[in-house]
Amino acid sequence: MEKIILTGDRPTGNLHIGHYVGSIANRLKLQEMGDYKKFYIMIADMQALTDNANNIDKVKNNIIQVAIDYLSAGINPNKVDIFIQSQVPELSEITMYFMNLVTVARLNRNPTVKEEIKQKDFNASIPAGFLCYPISQASDILAFGTTLVPVGDDQLPMLEQTREIVRSFHNVYGKEIFPMPNALLPDRQACRRLVGIDGAAKMSKSLGNCIFLKDEPEVVKQKIMNAYTDPNHIKISDPGKVEGNVVFEYLDAFCKDEHFKLYLPEYANLDELKEHYRRGGLGDVKIKLFLNNIIQEILEPIRQKRKKLENNIDEIYEMLFENSKKASQVASQTLQKMKEAMGIDYYKFLKK
Ligand code: ATP
Ligand code: MG
Repeated sequence: MEKIILTGDRPTGNLHIGHYVGSIANRLKLQEMGDYKKFYIMIADMQALTDNANNIDKVKNNIIQVAIDYLSAGINPNKVDIFIQSQVPELSEITMYFMNLVTVARLNRNPTVKEEIKQKDFNASIPAGFLCYPISQASDILAFGTTLVPVGDDQLPMLEQTREIVRSFHNVYGKEIFPMPNALLPDRQACRRLVGIDGAAKMSKSLGNCIFLKDEPEVVKQKIMNAYTDPNHIKISDPGKVEGNVVFEYLDAFCKDEHFKLYLPEYANLDELKEHYRRGGLGDVKIKLFLNNIIQEILEPIRQKRKKLENNIDEIYEMLFENSKKASQVASQTLQKMKEAMGIDYYKFLKK
């Protein structure tokens, strides 16, 4: 089957290092492999509005920010079509048809949505659009015949929901028109859901616990120096815990053996460093400075590229709108196929 890749991000803030390891690193790998028919990246502004209805400016302003983050991180606009969700109206129409195939009980069971509802203190006032966003996400994926979705593990329930919609659509309407999409997760466990600098289970734009790709070097360093470690590791000689320790979580996600040769040659690898920390005698400052060197090395070229791109805003918008038009044509063909499968292609009765 031809490989069609789609993934996206909500324009609710700048991209952070959790996005980088969770999804962008795999996008870059796929882009270089090049063995795909189409590769789309969608800026999910309509999904962002589901919990930001009264915060239009935040969503609007972050569309260009997220686009600049992609390009700075190395996404190549000649190999990948970046577009804006709301500029492809067919996606909303597809969502309306899919909504009839999903129960409210099923939406309420989605573990990621459940977690987010708690986090956002919606209580009983959950916007209907928010509860339904997994259905709209299924439309985004299926409108383009997507087979592969590179994401972090918080998106697995969305992929499961999408697969259920495919099965249900094929069952109910008796025609197989969608390929079954699969998630592509990072190999390293720590990258699948990078923890926040405060030790929270997930680094997330909405939680304010991020190191952003655009952060200046001093800001990055300051965040790392304040990162949550082991509260019982008070004196350097105290034995320390590696599990749940943000610095070690990040080292698990980012560190390679070469980094030791460059920045901390007294250890051969991460296992040796962890061993010493557990035994006692290794201070937090030393591991934080090591981590800082690694993160700065990754972010420096991204930051430099961003500074140049910030002068090309008009061109970037133009590219986004051009791509959205093309995406709209593709989604429209899918919609047509859906209507035929469903038998609601009434327009064929119209005499020309
Ligand atoms: P928001 O708080 O607005 O939901 P977010 O930080 O969760 O923002 P999204 O735009 O929802 O970011 O997620 C975009 C992509 O990045 C998804 O594939 C998601 O799995 C991945 N991602 C987000 N945060 C992390 C993280 N901390 N670790 C790994 N992947 C992540
Ligand atoms: Mg999210």
